[in-house]
Amino acid sequence: MRGRLSADFVPYVALAALAGLLIGSFLNVCIYRIPRDLSVVTPRSFCPECGRAIAWYDNIPLFSFLLLRGRCRACGQSIPLSYPLVELSTSVLFAFVAYEYGWTPAALKWFLFEAILVALFWIDLEERILPNELTLGGIAVGLIFAFFIAVPSAAGELLLPDAKPAFKSLLSAAVASVVLVAPIWVLGKAYSWIRKRDALGGGDVKLLLLLSVFLGLERGLFATLVGALGGTFIGGGYMLATRRDPATYQLPFGTFLCAGASLAPLLTRWIP
Ligand SMILES: [Zn+2]
Repeated sequence: MRGRLSADFVPYVALAALAGLLIGSFLNVCIYRIPRDLSVVTPRSFCPECGRAIAWYDNIPLFSFLLLRGRCRACGQSIPLSYPLVELSTSVLFAFVAYEYGWTPAALKWFLFEAILVALFWIDLEERILPNELTLGGIAVGLIFAFFIAVPSAAGELLLPDAKPAFKSLLSAAVASVVLVAPIWVLGKAYSWIRKRDALGGGDVKLLLLLSVFLGLERGLFATLVGALGGTFIGGGYMLATRRDPATYQLPFGTFLCAGASLAPLLTRWIP
């Protein structure tokens, strides 16, 4: 079923947007707590400045930020703009997934994928790390999904047209992993051998594997291309504008990769 804005479809997209706001609110907790090795379940949300627990009416996604004008009710400390941006972007991505995939199991897979990407985007941007909980955890979940929902790639079909669907799907994920990860890994090794410093962290390799098992080869290539272009022009432009030293400044490559990957499942009309 391909999404169309028919009368009965609008409530579903609206529901997905609302779910995106709530999941986005939870992702804010993950983005703050996972790099600090804190539980994402307990305790309930608190202000990192004054430690005061945040009441439910001050914790409504997007609206509380607007009502409080971006400040903690207790101490007045400003709430980072990333909080509403996380909620808003998750909501928009969820709405697009619902629009493209309708009421299907595939939509569930892409909701989860987008949520992982939003968290990784911000954690890499703020902390320059890509936590294993999200990369390795995501790879495991992606492989389970690959059994039931075909990885969107022609690779498996081309290589083994007579195999069972689940096998073709896993083969597509494997082909994507090798093609996407191998050149980056070799380049990274060569670079660190020549320059005597790490070019790519292990986190980037795990992120590429995560993209491979969810997206397959064609969309995985699209994601890395968008990520590389974004890193070069936006990241490079930022470094020039702020006069960062390329020898010491670490570009959040994972952030750009996540941005490219978040678009990849939504372009169903353009990527066959
Ligand atoms: Zn406070």
